[in-house]
Amino acid sequence: MVIESFNPATDQVLQQFPAHTAPQIDAALAKAATAQKHWSQLPVAQRLPHLSQVAATLRANAADYAKLITLEVGKPITESLAEVEKCTWNFDFYAKTAGSMLSDEIVASSASDSRIVYDPLGLVLAVMPWNYPFWQVMRAAAPVLAGGNGLVLKHASNVPQCALALQDVFAKAGLPAGLFTTLLTDSKSVAGLIADVRIHAVTFTGSTPVGRSIASQAGQALKKQVLELGGSDPFIVLADADINAAAATAAKARFHNTGQSCISAKRFIVEEKVAQDFVDAVCEHASKMKLSDPMDASTQIGTMARRSLRNELHAQVNASLAQGAKLCLGGKPIDGAGAFYQPTIFDHVSLQMTVAKEETFGPVAAIIRVKSPEDAVAVANATEFGLGAALWTQDLDRARRLTRQIEAGAVFVNGMVASDPRLPFGGIKQSGYGRELGALGLREFTNIKTVWTGPVKS
Ligand code: NAP
Repeated sequence: MVIESFNPATDQVLQQFPAHTAPQIDAALAKAATAQKHWSQLPVAQRLPHLSQVAATLRANAADYAKLITLEVGKPITESLAEVEKCTWNFDFYAKTAGSMLSDEIVASSASDSRIVYDPLGLVLAVMPWNYPFWQVMRAAAPVLAGGNGLVLKHASNVPQCALALQDVFAKAGLPAGLFTTLLTDSKSVAGLIADVRIHAVTFTGSTPVGRSIASQAGQALKKQVLELGGSDPFIVLADADINAAAATAAKARFHNTGQSCISAKRFIVEEKVAQDFVDAVCEHASKMKLSDPMDASTQIGTMARRSLRNELHAQVNASLAQGAKLCLGGKPIDGAGAFYQPTIFDHVSLQMTVAKEETFGPVAAIIRVKSPEDAVAVANATEFGLGAALWTQDLDRARRLTRQIEAGAVFVNGMVASDPRLPFGGIKQSGYGRELGALGLREFTNIKTVWTGPVKS
């Protein structure tokens, strides 16, 4: 089997890699398990300088890594650079803070001493998507390694160069060989990897249907799992919001990464009184965004990552048109090389329409008009997903009340949903379970052990 690196902006094959054979995978897992055992025995204080080395390596090679990201997924080069910088931030963050996050917690009980300690779990299998080919992996890797674990990566098949470059980051940074291992293999080998006794836990980021399948396989093997799945984030604009600021952020939140982000705002739920002003402003912002060669530093919208994904998106657009959604902008693939798609905005979307019901993974915005803040929250919650949400209003007391009613793993008031190493990240409902980032994300892949000590005879 061959794994192909392909440039979605030019339709050119960049490189082909033979997939790892079963004996190669077996040998890689054995090496990873040995590396993790040694690593887990290092005191936390000795592990953390290695994380700083990873950050330094990313920083030193940021331009090369950004180029690889753009070549394989077609995102604007400025966004690829920002992605590598965010990985650097994550490793620096855990290098500084994981020591205190992992320190023992004394809890009073009937014991002479009772405490919670955070031990490593072992080898974590990471099955990852292509949309942020560095960030998704490094978001998981920094806390997993800080916790004394090793990581085995099965990356998306369309980003093999990024997958190999990631392994190389750890080699260049001087981490023990095998502690971070990239396997070049397809999705058919995931079930076997999950079942392998050398794998102790699974972190999956990707679509909801695949998440369900991985959850059942990990459940069958009784292995800890964190699932970061799809989303259809609401972006609520109430009548008292700063409409210009909301519209500018809305365009960024929807068209960033060519709309291919789990936490992109996808459903814009706007109070009727301000809806027309909002629609006009978002259309204006979106129509000014430069769609072009993703390698050009002035490009703001690149290509979608694959033609098949563009076809799926266009089918959702056509279905919504047929259902009566009003097209305000775009709505078509762009002819010629690459998987480019026009930034697209629908107004007068109702809950039954495809763009409201399904996750749209590309540059398509759905605007839903509502009568009141209560209706806005009801519409926001009328989805199987529960990843992020944004709420725009000047009334912060009302915002605090409404944020508690919104069914999501994160609510951002007057801002754009984004992950941040300092704060936990994850979803509810069909967007998954478990958390990444922050102290809670770090502890997901630890053995949270109770140590109870009775009195000693003197
Ligand atoms: P995907 O099709 O679910 O693929 C993700 C990973 O799973 C890839 O490595 C893929 O490998 C593998 N895979 C596919 N089918 C599999 C199967 N039957 N068994 C085991 N592994 C399998 O998702 P995607 O299209 O790459 O990514 C887009 C989705 O990810 C969207 O729904 C998006 O919202 C979600 N996402 C969520 C987050 C979050 O943090 N919540 C972040 C980013 C993306 P192959 O490439 O070899 O098929």
